[in-house]
Amino acid sequence: MSRVLVIGCGGVAAVAIKKCCQVSEVFTELCIASRTKAKCDALAQELEGKTATKITTAQVDADDVQQVIDLIKSYQPDLVMNIALPYQDLTIMDACLACGVNYMDTANYEPEDTDDPEWRAIYEKRCKEKGFSAYFDYSWQWAYKEKFEKAGLMALLGCGFDPGVTQAYCAYAKKHEFDTIDTIDILDCNGGDHGYAFATNFNPEINLREVSAPGSYWEDGHWVEIPPMAIKREYDFDSVGQKDMYLLHHEEIESLAVNIPEVQRIRFFMTFGQSYLTHMKCLENVGMLSTTPIMFEGKEIVPIQFLKALLPDPASLGPRTHGKTNIGCIFTGKKDGKDKTYYIYNVCDHQECYKEVQSQAISYTTGVPAMCGAMMMLTGQWNKAGVYTVEEMNPDPFLDALDKHGLPRRENHAPTLVD
Ligand code: NDP
Repeated sequence: MSRVLVIGCGGVAAVAIKKCCQVSEVFTELCIASRTKAKCDALAQELEGKTATKITTAQVDADDVQQVIDLIKSYQPDLVMNIALPYQDLTIMDACLACGVNYMDTANYEPEDTDDPEWRAIYEKRCKEKGFSAYFDYSWQWAYKEKFEKAGLMALLGCGFDPGVTQAYCAYAKKHEFDTIDTIDILDCNGGDHGYAFATNFNPEINLREVSAPGSYWEDGHWVEIPPMAIKREYDFDSVGQKDMYLLHHEEIESLAVNIPEVQRIRFFMTFGQSYLTHMKCLENVGMLSTTPIMFEGKEIVPIQFLKALLPDPASLGPRTHGKTNIGCIFTGKKDGKDKTYYIYNVCDHQECYKEVQSQAISYTTGVPAMCGAMMMLTGQWNKAGVYTVEEMNPDPFLDALDKHGLPRRENHAPTLVD
């Protein structure tokens, strides 16, 4: 028996909500709240008569802490699932603290306005001290650790697939397969084809910011930063085949380096087709990826937000995307004094996802772990006061839940390694 408030009603939230509604014995009541209430109402209507979960909807601007506080006070949830954008992480965490409610999200904080001088001063100091220049990092949310501990509340950060399941895979490898882990390569392959020359699989603004940034990896206790897309490898993925993949900075590297301190190297690779890369480079070169507002015919516009309006809505890619995703982690390390390797991953089929929840696999592979993470918290299987990332939690019940709810693991004890 639980009441859950979901904030956000985009591609990922729609999957998470539909999956919650398949487990009504845990998610008894759900309030879907977002900036555009019409989207929440449409989803609630779609689910009417198909679930025992009691659904209500609300309008909220989650950039405004007071609005979130008012909503939490009136709905009285046991948990707030933030599936809006990373821009709202801190305001929603503040509201949860003010109201004494547990919190979770799927991506770590980054500011909407990267030109804000106050934020920029802290960011530039961090770039120098830590050695990576991504706009997002955990420091903002880790700063809430003590406040959540003192309040006896839990905040679970980044419970999608990557971040999220990839960290549960690391915790699982550490618990069951290795005494010590030497290297971790996280491989994110999307073998899906939507037929467009260019489109992004999740929020275009967040996605394009991430992939156009410099790459970086963790090695021997420090960050190594490289120009965007400077390291390329080929890999033959199970159920997908041979793909080009590129080294990116990714948020879970930062927490894994802290929580599995013996690891000598952690890298993250994502596959991209040539058409995607060519379009992205061109858009970047002409300034369309900029987040700095410009004046256009007397009106201020933000180029990347204008681009978002032109691109296909990621939620609309579902019916036209064919192929599979393959996301997982390859480990090297030692067990009982012997060297060993291990690969744990999931393969997900875009069309199967569409048949089940009318969504493509990127939203599916994020929304299902969000539901499973919420379930871990609501059933008390993950219950610790403080602010945590997924590798700090017991991976076993979470991976069992993923096996059952649509993202089963596969394992390989003799994988091809990435050079
Ligand atoms: P979408 O853009 O499809 O949806 C975002 C939703 O948040 C929309 O409903 C939007 O409302 C709402 N929203 C935005 N601003 C506010 C606000 N101020 N107040 C209330 N609601 C707001 O994004 P996705 O569903 O693709 O992504 C959701 C999250 O999942 C993002 O944080 C993304 O980074 C993360 N993600 C994580 C992954 C992982 O593996 N961990 C992978 C993919 C995504 P409106 O309809 O009005 O715009």
